Amino acid sequence: MLGSLRSIVQEVNSARDLPAVLDIIVRRVREVMHTRVCSVYLRDKQSGNYVLMATRGLNQSAVGQVHLAPGEGLVGNVVTREEPINLEQAEAHPAYQYFPATGEERFSAFLGTPIIHHRNVLGVLVVQQAEKRRFDEGEEAFLVTLSAQLAGVIAHAEATGVLVAIGQQRNEAKFGGIAASPGVAIGRAHVIAPQANLATVPYSCCIDVDAELELFHQALASARDEIREVGERLKDDLNREERALFDAYISMLDDNSLAVEVCDRIRQQISAPRAWAEVMLEHVRRFEAMSDAYFRDRAADVRDLGARVLVHLRQQQQSQRDYPENTVLIGEELTAAMLAEVPREKLIGLVSVKGSSNSHVAIIARAMGLPAVMGVQDLPYEQIEGADLVVDGYRGELHVHPGRELRRRFDAIVAEERELARNLDHLAGLPGETADGHRVRLWVNTGLMADVVRSLERGAEGVGLYRTEVPFLLRDRFPSEEEQREIYREQLEAFAPRPVTMRTLDIGGDKALAYFPIEETNPFLGWRGIRVTLDHPEIFLGQVRAMMKAGKGLGNLRIMLPMISGLGELVAARKLVERAHGELVDEGYDISMPPLGIMIEVPSAVYQARELAEQVDFMSVGSNDLTQYLLAVDRNNSRVANIYHALHPAVLRALQEVVSAGHAANTKVGICGELAGDPGGALLLVAMGYDVLSMNATNLPRVKAALRAVRKADTDKLLQSVLAMHCAEEIEETVQAYLKRIGIKALLQPQ
Ligand code: PEP
Ligand code: MG
Repeated sequence: MLGSLRSIVQEVNSARDLPAVLDIIVRRVREVMHTRVCSVYLRDKQSGNYVLMATRGLNQSAVGQVHLAPGEGLVGNVVTREEPINLEQAEAHPAYQYFPATGEERFSAFLGTPIIHHRNVLGVLVVQQAEKRRFDEGEEAFLVTLSAQLAGVIAHAEATGVLVAIGQQRNEAKFGGIAASPGVAIGRAHVIAPQANLATVPYSCCIDVDAELELFHQALASARDEIREVGERLKDDLNREERALFDAYISMLDDNSLAVEVCDRIRQQISAPRAWAEVMLEHVRRFEAMSDAYFRDRAADVRDLGARVLVHLRQQQQSQRDYPENTVLIGEELTAAMLAEVPREKLIGLVSVKGSSNSHVAIIARAMGLPAVMGVQDLPYEQIEGADLVVDGYRGELHVHPGRELRRRFDAIVAEERELARNLDHLAGLPGETADGHRVRLWVNTGLMADVVRSLERGAEGVGLYRTEVPFLLRDRFPSEEEQREIYREQLEAFAPRPVTMRTLDIGGDKALAYFPIEETNPFLGWRGIRVTLDHPEIFLGQVRAMMKAGKGLGNLRIMLPMISGLGELVAARKLVERAHGELVDEGYDISMPPLGIMIEVPSAVYQARELAEQVDFMSVGSNDLTQYLLAVDRNNSRVANIYHALHPAVLRALQEVVSAGHAANTKVGICGELAGDPGGALLLVAMGYDVLSMNATNLPRVKAALRAVRKADTDKLLQSVLAMHCAEEIEETVQAYLKRIGIKALLQPQ
């Protein structure tokens, strides 16, 4: 059964569109389960009814004609019960309804399973049999497994269908995701597709057909040269069969008919990468459908060859790339390096199919003040290159081809946003304190050089977290000690005499350096942060030396260690920091040892906070990671984003524990996770006694506004009331209602 399941899912995955997907399902399921009928019903978004969309075994003329409301008939009952219905004799069931158009009076046995995607019943998959018999447990389990696997593919194909239809009529479509960075962006889609994936090449047109044909021929020639060269280089290491593969690749590229097919499409003004991908995928599908195993295996070779040429096509295109004004960057999984490719003045918003609001790219988006929607799982992004878009970073929605009315509404929101920002401007020169004078340090998190100007303009009093990995992410090798010194000096000088907390390199998890790949099944629990740099003292020492040299004469450097999970790591890291300091003194530098602190972001560090506090100059809570580890929710996974709650009662207790432990040891405690930049969260942290709140520059005025609107005693009351609550949602609602009551909510988001 596993083999059949895999092959059906594989076939469905490479189908062109929704009708093809449904046709494969009904045909293959009927064949594999040896049933007389297999049908798929899908929900019609407008009416909410379930409509027969494809069948093998029922009358074809019934397709599109049979509609059932939830709870109506057997299919409607599968919908409302959200579980399979397995009947020996369908017509004996009280819910049975007869539709003459289908001709189903001939069938007795019925098995229907719901197709559920993100808790919504998208449709029902039904098999039927003429004789009276119950489908056995194995058959039922097979259909349940298949429905679960197909749900995502059907949802994606449905969304693509909507877009293809609207592409012709220019009607608007809406896709939901996670609100990852507030604001509204109205612009044009630029899709970044994985360099070598044939299946994700965006549909785009070419205007200059001759230039596109030339591009294609050049890419073919480069790919041919590359394959020849690799084949030549490896010839002594390859056996005969492997060598033959290279020859086969060359002859495929020399095959004129392949090139003719592609050129024909280019002449129809389809871009060269897209034309190439379409043709190669058709060949892949043809090979995959062959019954002979040898030929089926060749599908992988065709795909590989296709990918090689695609990389060449992309490289040639890259050099000609011109980003439009108002670019909205879209990708399956956006990274910081991808953002860096677009000139800052042209980039206005981000949309990512994967990822969540605490992914690092979302954190960077917030820091840059770019509206972002993450985890738009059903977005057929390959179809929307160049499309007009509205990114609604407040609601986590993306509107494709917005109509005039929708645009008008969003234009008004953008105008209101500008007004709100102006209203907050006057706060820059005022201190971070409550209405009754309780002072709290409001610092900023930085990484990009652009953060510096924004932070200073908004009245930052210091840097609570400088993410040193950002300049590392934007290069193609480790920066040298001198290069690092220059980058750090710029940062320290810009803020002096304000303190700047530089965190040592925190890579791993979702922060991968292209030139230092870390392949792990469980990256957030793996080789991350201090674990990497303790294993590579040469990298750690170089970085710490660069920081200390950069701070010479300024006196505002603080060094912070990420991902500390126990005293052993702290002791080992401190030894290295002291060694670097000693070396520099020996080399003649007049530098004093900077304050050394740690991040508290691993649960074990919460329970050892007191012992750790005694050994450091300061502590700062990384609530992004602490939340993910306490709740066992991957911060980067959109599937579980709805249960990632930084205000979960367990997280609040941990936060309290840390600040009390720190203060008991006379150590200052700050927080630099995203919670500090959330006005509601910030008020709770102030009540807990946090000394420093460090956040992105975008949120600084909002938090300051909230702080200045309350008295310390009010925040204490709010904290006491939420600490008595047992669930995160209730706490979130209470905090939001409080912000509304004190008039802050209106300052944060257009109404
Ligand atoms: C955190 O984990 O809260 C933190 C500030 O570090 P980062 O987001 O860079 O992992
Ligand atoms: Mg962290």
